[in-house]
Amino acid sequence: MQAANLDLMDDSLHDLRAAARRAGAALLALALAVGSVAPASAQQPPAAKADSREASAEQRKRDALSKDEGIEVPKRSRIASLADAKRMESQAVAQYGQLLKQARAQGALAPPDYPPRQRLERIAQRLIPYTHRFSERSDEWKWEVNLLGSNQVNAFVMPGGKIAFYTGIIDRLRLTDDEIAMIMGHEMAHALLEHGRERVGQAKLAQIATIGASVFSQILGYGDLGGQLASGASQLTLLKFSRGDETEADLVGMDIAARAGYDPRAAVSLWQKMSALSQGQGAPPQFLSTHPAHATRIDTIREALPKVLPLYARARGVAPQALEPYASNWGEPIR
Ligand SMILES: [Zn+2]
Repeated sequence: MQAANLDLMDDSLHDLRAAARRAGAALLALALAVGSVAPASAQQPPAAKADSREASAEQRKRDALSKDEGIEVPKRSRIASLADAKRMESQAVAQYGQLLKQARAQGALAPPDYPPRQRLERIAQRLIPYTHRFSERSDEWKWEVNLLGSNQVNAFVMPGGKIAFYTGIIDRLRLTDDEIAMIMGHEMAHALLEHGRERVGQAKLAQIATIGASVFSQILGYGDLGGQLASGASQLTLLKFSRGDETEADLVGMDIAARAGYDPRAAVSLWQKMSALSQGQGAPPQFLSTHPAHATRIDTIREALPKVLPLYARARGVAPQALEPYASNWGEPIR
């Protein structure tokens, strides 16, 4: 079993590396695009004149720290207005409420005292303090993470910080806490960077669908409630993010999770698991239909590790060079 898994992983890594070599130029362009965005601090007004020389030296030190550390804050979309963003968020919050109501009626909404739900909540509470750096507006949001019963390998975020994990993604990928934190950070990043706002144009806002037919299975006991798992869910949960958004969300998510003390190398094992699953079962996990993977994804994540591992080391209170390789419950430890 273990040997078969390893073979599968070796094959998928081999494929990924071959594809990475072929797409070397594209990767470079992508890395440049991500690396060249302006940090938010560059857009802030200069310090007031009254500041003493000492205070501005202190400020410079802080600026240097925030620029040098971790993943740079990507520039925000200028497509839509703040009013559009707020309207979209309130629509999303309402849709999320409907979704939970429907799931609860089907016995598919994990209650607050259900241990796997509590596990998600614990991880979310550790991550939330580190979201502010990427969107001050998010301070007004009420972050929420729920667990829905479904065999689908899926998780989603809606604008305004409303997240859901399906039991399928946790169970079928046997996710560790670090891997859950990578997915959660990734989803948080989509919301913080308002990728949904860019995907849904003004025109589409008016025609957002209501929640569709049964997509859930019961959390406690029973199996799937029906075969029609692929359909349904609301439009805002079915937003397909672009390749650029995906890279941005990977990197920002790793930054948030690393600051919260989760090992960012878990992003590598997560995508190795995802890749092995999609090759093993023929049909790609549902997660990939809204979060398209690309062949160079793991390479891009690995390239970003030197930026986020020091954050993780500091959160753990150890020197970066003292970190042990990351051992997931699957595959080889990751250095
Ligand atoms: Zn994504």
